[in-house]
Amino acid sequence: MTARGCGRVRSAGPDILKTDAGSIARAGEMIRAGDLVAFPTETVYGLGADATNDAAVAAVFAAKDRPTFNPLIVHFADARAASRRVAFDERARLLAESFWPGPLTLVLPRREACRISLLASSGLDTLAVRVPGHPVAQRFLAAAARPIAAPSANVAGRVSPTTARHVVDSLDGRVSLVLDGGPCRIGIESTVIDLSGDQALILRPGGVTREAVEAVIGGIAEFGGGAPANSPGLQDRHYAPARPLRLNAACARTGEAFLGFGRDAPKGPRGDVMNLSPSEDVDEAAANLFAMIRALDRKGISAIAVAPIPDEGLGRAINDRLRRAAGVGA
Ligand code: AMP
Ligand code: MG
Repeated sequence: MTARGCGRVRSAGPDILKTDAGSIARAGEMIRAGDLVAFPTETVYGLGADATNDAAVAAVFAAKDRPTFNPLIVHFADARAASRRVAFDERARLLAESFWPGPLTLVLPRREACRISLLASSGLDTLAVRVPGHPVAQRFLAAAARPIAAPSANVAGRVSPTTARHVVDSLDGRVSLVLDGGPCRIGIESTVIDLSGDQALILRPGGVTREAVEAVIGGIAEFGGGAPANSPGLQDRHYAPARPLRLNAACARTGEAFLGFGRDAPKGPRGDVMNLSPSEDVDEAAANLFAMIRALDRKGISAIAVAPIPDEGLGRAINDRLRRAAGVGA
């Protein structure tokens, strides 16, 4: 879909391109022309648009059916490019030095001459900024020569995509080009930290752990549930499969699929029973989470029962996503 053709549904499927120089150059041209391009990052696949083009940003909201009160993350090639649009304080500088490029998003005050679409900020006076580390995302940003507004490349509220195939399954007809960089290494979204006030606040746990952030800027508060007034997009129900999730389950009940964790997890036919990490590695579990939920979310099952996941490191982000997917809040 293009910004000009907002709402128009293409009949043919999207082009899925391997990431050679020609396809990256074409993707960059499409961004400058106001089109949408899905691309890989180390967290999940993003649905990208020129962040300085109001119509292109509006097309992202339309393609995802995303409510316009839920602001987008804007991606930059490097911290210098981001600092031209938002005001960095000392905490932001330290975090950017430590974790960029990487799975960290900072919410910072917009500069007066920000010139990023206000719609990307949902009208707030802050902007969420990130420098992704995936080499394809880096090359794509360089080719586009624009900041790129990009939420996850899925219909709003549903499971995030960690492969190009997931993007097509979710957004077929709503995006014309998908850059295929293979499965995402981290597999769970970026950590979002609000630095617009005196108290640094984790709005969303993600690919950078709280411990790692605290080692750099000291104590940080975690937002404790519901939707904070300053981050209206963090709703309780999100990341949801079509079938219900049942959390902290020891095994499946009749009719349920089972998503296990660890060496003692119940076994069963693949398709009905999967294991996030037989070796109890939460990083591996994060990388598998969305793909396995998608694979188990099939007609004929009553629910997906999910084993308890240790609440440490990336396990915190996994549990946050599972609670939201199950609709029991953060
Ligand atoms: P997504 O792009 O769907 O992965 O989500 C990005 C998250 O960052 C959303 O849930 C937003 O609520 C949050 N976010 C983005 N921009 C801002 C902002 N300016 N202030 C606070 N939260 C934000
Ligand atoms: Mg999302």
